[in-house]
Amino acid sequence: MTQPVIFFGHGSPMNALEENIFTQKWREIGLSLPQARAILMISAHYETNGVKIASSPNQKTIHDFYGFPDELFAAQYPARGDLVVANRVIEVLGEGEIDQNWGLDHGAWSVLAHTHPRPEVPILQLSLDRKKSPQEHYELAKKLSILRDEGVLILASGNIVHNLRNIDWQGGAYNWARDFNNEIVAAILVGNVEKIINFESLKHSKLAVPTPEHFLPLLYILALKQGQENLEIFNNEIDLGSISMTGFLIGSSENKEARSSSSF
Ligand code: ZN
Repeated sequence: MTQPVIFFGHGSPMNALEENIFTQKWREIGLSLPQARAILMISAHYETNGVKIASSPNQKTIHDFYGFPDELFAAQYPARGDLVVANRVIEVLGEGEIDQNWGLDHGAWSVLAHTHPRPEVPILQLSLDRKKSPQEHYELAKKLSILRDEGVLILASGNIVHNLRNIDWQGGAYNWARDFNNEIVAAILVGNVEKIINFESLKHSKLAVPTPEHFLPLLYILALKQGQENLEIFNNEIDLGSISMTGFLIGSSENKEARSSSSF
């Protein structure tokens, strides 16, 4: 079956360890997914010059943050890469090279620790090429489409609204954060891709998307929508005042095979 594709709003690195309404939903989604051959993750925290595919026999758990408890720095997420899959990704994209220096950054493993707590399949990361425009990211992502039918689960991790300078540990959502998030969610729901690619021209974009890396991963998932596929929005909340946790799933996440076999 065609694998679904999912964008996650990852928020604070502490979500890797926490049980909260957001991570609970990630777990639920993880349990509902069909069996995949491999996972390809596009994270906000893997920016490179040129396209890279992180794949090593043992993927490093990268603790790319500071000022968090020791427990988070001690967390390990065991995953392996796969050179056959990595080369296939390069083949379908028509560009890219294998990167054995990276591994899985916290944008990737903080979500995967919940969706795939004991990964059985290879997990690779696809980088965000700094030289590409939003339109070019979108066009590149379309080329991944065929992998959905080859059993590759494509996930992306970022945040629609991501402004660390304005974080409010106690407060509710800023109006500009809520407005920008709502505008993007509305565009996702009606399929107004043009508007999303041109997010820089939207009101509040300078506050909501001060740098593009957390926003760009969602273009990779939008680009993979085929025809009238089902689209589900989840965790549609603003956390810490200026971080959108909104995610969306395209396609069918119903694990029919697991369901039928469980009746025996
Ligand atoms: Zn992040």
